[in-house]
Amino acid sequence: MPPSAHILIYVIMGTTALQVLLFIIKKRLAPKQPVAAHIQQQLDLTRRALDAAPVAMGMVDLHGRLTFANQALITLWGYGQAGDMQDKALVDFFLDPVEVIAGMQALKKNRAWQAEIAATHHDGSRFQIEVHAHPLPGHDGKPLGFTAHFTDPTERRKVEQKLRKLAYYDSLTDLPNRIMLQDRMNLALGHAARLGESVILFTLDLDNFKQINESLGHAKGDAILRQLATRLGKTIGQGDTLVRWGGDEFVLLLTGYQDEAAIAREARRILDSVSEHPFELDGSEVFTSASMGIALFPRDGEEQETLLKHAETALYEAKKHGGNVYQFFSEPLQQKIVALHQMDVNLRRALRQEEFFLAYQPQMDLRTGRPVGIEALVRWMHPQLGLISPAQFIPLAEESGLIRPLGKWILRTACREAMSWWNAGRPSLRLAVNFSTQQFRQTDMLAEIESVLQETGFPAHLLELEITESAFLENMADAIEVLVDLKTRGIQIAIDDFGTGYSSLSYLKNFPIDRIKIAQTFVRDIPADPEDMAIVDAIIAMATRLGLELVAEGVEMPEQMQFLRECGCHIMQGFHFAKPMPAAQMADFLCRSWPMQSTDGAQASLHCP
Ligand code: C2E
Ligand code: CA
Repeated sequence: MPPSAHILIYVIMGTTALQVLLFIIKKRLAPKQPVAAHIQQQLDLTRRALDAAPVAMGMVDLHGRLTFANQALITLWGYGQAGDMQDKALVDFFLDPVEVIAGMQALKKNRAWQAEIAATHHDGSRFQIEVHAHPLPGHDGKPLGFTAHFTDPTERRKVEQKLRKLAYYDSLTDLPNRIMLQDRMNLALGHAARLGESVILFTLDLDNFKQINESLGHAKGDAILRQLATRLGKTIGQGDTLVRWGGDEFVLLLTGYQDEAAIAREARRILDSVSEHPFELDGSEVFTSASMGIALFPRDGEEQETLLKHAETALYEAKKHGGNVYQFFSEPLQQKIVALHQMDVNLRRALRQEEFFLAYQPQMDLRTGRPVGIEALVRWMHPQLGLISPAQFIPLAEESGLIRPLGKWILRTACREAMSWWNAGRPSLRLAVNFSTQQFRQTDMLAEIESVLQETGFPAHLLELEITESAFLENMADAIEVLVDLKTRGIQIAIDDFGTGYSSLSYLKNFPIDRIKIAQTFVRDIPADPEDMAIVDAIIAMATRLGLELVAEGVEMPEQMQFLRECGCHIMQGFHFAKPMPAAQMADFLCRSWPMQSTDGAQASLHCP
């Protein structure tokens, strides 16, 4: 029988029982009348139904005597049969008569009575029971007595405990969760405020949890989180709190530290506990590390929310330093974050309001004296702040993800403007567009490039993407695949700022790269720095051997040009030749680069209209 059917039967029987019980009471109170046979039958049935019910139930008259006890109630109190209990005063079954009498008085005033009280078992032993009693009104509304049922409070407590656990604890690690943290923080902050003490809030998260999850699977990721919870639990003191905030982020609430040096030592100790030993996963071992943000009460905030926000801010900053690092919150840090946020808002507006434009810098071939390529460099003309350098806003655009729409705008604009030069008769040169690592890892990058090429009509073989070595850092195999795809479409690849990033050179021979750009850092101090000169010389020799083309960046002085030339690099870019210039000026520059001797001997430009 389905459970709903049971419920229905109990309800029906319950209703009948109540009617019959009312009848019994009336009978006890009213003069005796002959009972019809079918009523007797119903009475028996009801009695049996009440005895079969798993709930202990009883009835009490207005004098406080137990007039009815079902089988469950008799068993609960350890008596043999109903007669053993019946007609006895209710108070006799409980330890505290005062409480029972108070309950009876409430019932007499037509109020329900519910309480957990100590009861006395038939054998004299004591047990806790929960009473749920209600007045039983007669037809005239006056109370006839009371009905009561009794439940075991330990069951309720177990359920409550279970619910509490679900609400306040994290099911994966069994640690308190963020709701519990609120309670603990309330207590800790209130206590510290009264005693003039400080509270330390650490926020901690793993440095490479995303990769662990992706490469090893979520089950192993969960196993690491469980081990991490145990490990962190061992590092903290008895009165301290460790909470799983969510994902791989944990919050530690510590008290009793006075100076920053001691807090820093504690932070280091906790971070070391994560990084110094491997996590065990079915026989294999995984090493990982964590980063930590620190906020102090009351120095960094007096409210829970502020402290948590500031510890998060510090964690965010710590993350930028490559992992296994802790960072204290500070006012300058806050100002920096606010400024970054403001910059992000401004950048988004700038993209909408077309405050960006492109500057172009030629790459000169010294053997012909003419440009062979043009690099597009983005500029931001802020309505109030004036010109802002890409070195300032590109990293932020990368961080916020805005680099994607901005990158697409740059590519489209560069292709469109270059096409307008070619269409106006300028020679078609290679167009180099800077591509950030984030753009390079974009799954729809190729489709996006193709759509821009199609839209602008720019030929793929004249497009060069300048990428930095960091694009290959995370996944070499994926990077090769993308590069091969680009090459198949005829797009050229240059490694920007060569020598400043990734240390392995093996990619140079494995990857389909067209040219490398010698970073400005190495060119800047030529001819003063013999070490930079040795590095530049070695880069040129290596690239030449590998059949890669070279472009030297940041050439400002004739001595630099001379040295590079002697080493075998003939293509250069830098202020010595031309500074980056707006599109219209670039069109003129291209004209001037191809002078033609006219019939009357005057100079004219071959490609200019
Ligand atoms: P980069 O790709 O290394 O660009 C070369 C930078 O050197 C440019 O700075 C250029 O103006 C500057 N430069 C060129 N010749 C000389 C010289 O002789 N002396 C000196 N001191 N500097 C020279 P810019 O335009 O400020 O760009 C800075 C960086 O911002 C770029 O470095 C590049 O990493 C990034 N960037 C610029 N435009 C874009 C873009 O459109 N997309 C992306 N993703 N990044 C860009
Ligand atoms: Ca570049």
